[in-house]
Amino acid sequence: MISSKLQDAINAQIGAEMWSANLYLSMSYYFGAKGYEGFAKWMKAQANEENEHAEEMAQYLMKRGGQAKVGALEAVPQEWESPLAVFEHVYQHECHVSQLIDALVDVAAAENDKASQDFLWGFVREQVEEEATAQGIVDKMKLGGASALYHLNAELGTRK
Ligand code: MG
Repeated sequence: MISSKLQDAINAQIGAEMWSANLYLSMSYYFGAKGYEGFAKWMKAQANEENEHAEEMAQYLMKRGGQAKVGALEAVPQEWESPLAVFEHVYQHECHVSQLIDALVDVAAAENDKASQDFLWGFVREQVEEEATAQGIVDKMKLGGASALYHLNAELGTRK
């Protein structure tokens, strides 16, 4: 049985994952409107992945005898200055999510809930990849300028 304190904290993270999904969906639509179909597709996949994180956490809560809750979500941004600004935002956002997950592990540790710590460590590890992927795209964009945008759009469009 999960403690109510940890249940609340995980539910807050479920909301954060859903908000992330909306952020990336908004970025996908922004790119779609600008003609960057590859970036749009990548962002859509990214949004789906965030919804899967929320669902995974919800299923975990229920498995532990808790209740997952769908709360209100703040509106997400809709406009950015450039494709580079979008991916810089992705990087900053993923760094922020990493901090949220770290804090969640701290709550699980304070509640002395080993199973939840183990479950959450998977997300801690995944954040390392999320940050590195976003940073890598930002680096490539900065290095190559306008021609890098063309190639990256094609490359990221291959994401399944
Ligand atoms: Mg996530």
